[in-house]
Amino acid sequence: MIMGAEQQAAKRVGIIGGGIMGICLGYYLSKQGVQVEIFEASPVLGGLAGPLVLEDGTAVDRFYHAILSSDAHLRRLCEEIGIADQLRFKETKMGFFYQGAIHPMNNMVDFLRFPPLGWIDRFRLGLTVVAAQLVKDFRRLEGVNVEDWLIRLSGRNTFMNIWRPMLKAKFDGGFENTPATYIWARLVRMSSARSGANQKEEAGHLIGGYPTLMKALAQKIEAAGGKIHLSCPAQEVVIEDGRAKGIRLAESVAEFDAVVVTMQTPIFRRLIPAAPAGYLDFLAKTDYIGIVCPLIVLDRPLTGFWTLNITDDRIPFTGVIETTAYIDPKYVGGHHLVYLPKYTAPGSEWAKMPDDEVRATWMKYLKMMFPDFDEKSIRYFLIHRERYVEPLHYLNSFDLIPQVKTPVEGLFLSTTAQIYPALTNGESVSRHAEQSAGVVLAGLAARQAVG
Ligand SMILES: Cc1cc2nc3c(=O)[nH]c(=O)nc-3n(C[C@H](O)[C@H](O)[C@H](O)COP(=O)(O)OP(=O)(O)OC[C@H]3O[C@@H](n4cnc5c(N)ncnc54)[C@H](O)[C@@H]3O)c2cc1C
Repeated sequence: MIMGAEQQAAKRVGIIGGGIMGICLGYYLSKQGVQVEIFEASPVLGGLAGPLVLEDGTAVDRFYHAILSSDAHLRRLCEEIGIADQLRFKETKMGFFYQGAIHPMNNMVDFLRFPPLGWIDRFRLGLTVVAAQLVKDFRRLEGVNVEDWLIRLSGRNTFMNIWRPMLKAKFDGGFENTPATYIWARLVRMSSARSGANQKEEAGHLIGGYPTLMKALAQKIEAAGGKIHLSCPAQEVVIEDGRAKGIRLAESVAEFDAVVVTMQTPIFRRLIPAAPAGYLDFLAKTDYIGIVCPLIVLDRPLTGFWTLNITDDRIPFTGVIETTAYIDPKYVGGHHLVYLPKYTAPGSEWAKMPDDEVRATWMKYLKMMFPDFDEKSIRYFLIHRERYVEPLHYLNSFDLIPQVKTPVEGLFLSTTAQIYPALTNGESVSRHAEQSAGVVLAGLAARQAVG
């Protein structure tokens, strides 16, 4: 049962984390009349989707973020809060870097020209894309190893030339325990972004990036009487007699009717030492992929491709992502933004590599890929790292996904680890936040009914 707005008026919910999840959740709860308070550790909202201010004062994405034209939930949210006019979409190009050359991969013609694949391979690769669209119940793929699935559909040659290098790059080596749902979800998302008979990609962004969404949602939350506290890390969720009472801050405890944590499970675990030991053990089973992500800010375009997938094992980065292929440089200080991400497995040596070594290694391979690359075109070279980027889901591990409602009364978890098999992005996170808000409201209503 979901309470009406008047019944909710007195309810107070504390939300920890001011990323897309926390802010969207705060918005959906305050729409229902709940008084929300959001606590964010850093001085800005946004988390992984937050901004970075360059030396010249230009704010750009710390990590690369695209909104796809098919991101229906996110687009609806933008309309609802009055920022849809800030969305920009553009036809973009994707390609592969294979044996020293760039090969576009945007339509049937490109596909048929792709050199490492013979006619049968191409046909089977196309079949893989079609087969993915036909799978409606992902649970069927939960226990199927991604390698077996792809070899069966695409064939060994395509697997070795295309899929294996991509999987190796994404998982920083090993992917033996990865279910087929991983590639399935990607194929479904990318196909839905291609529109019309010409099958062109449409990627886009909000002018100002996700921070534009954050600001607009924050205004709505505050207009509804909610509060947002920046530079305000939660120290602990106060749990007494099996119930979440509030949030311990640096110098006080803020009391709430319910507390929602939106961070990744290892951070959540550290905040709830008083939760049942069995639950803490259960949460420890979720792990995450991390990232080392250099951003090179250039005075000219590099490839003109939004994404260049790399199928060369020697190159440490996963891809070349040029966000100014779809963001008009006029919105980002006239710069051209190229991200060179390296995903890192738990314990990866790459994550520990000092910045100067990362820069030297990355430059060596960038020059190998683009012999004419002129280092003078670099305006800034920045390196960002994160340990918890994307949850890792292993074969048959569906039951290890934590629920929004936790065993502690009044304590809820709304986190990216619960988004599966969809990929974690603004679309799925905002959708999940709305669903989690429903669970929190139902929990509050149930308590009110009992009390
Ligand atoms: C390299 C990369 C590329 C991506 N590409 C895309 C893309 O193209 N399109 C797209 O839509 N999405 C993309 N994403 C995904 C998107 O950024 C994430 O799914 C989304 O930002 C997750 O939001 P979140 O709120 O769940 O988590 P987070 O962003 O991690 O937010 C958690 C927040 O909690 C705060 N916090 C931590 N500890 C505390 C504490 N103790 N007290 C208070 N606050 C605390 C953190 O500071 C942070 O702000 C990408 C992500 C990365 C890293």
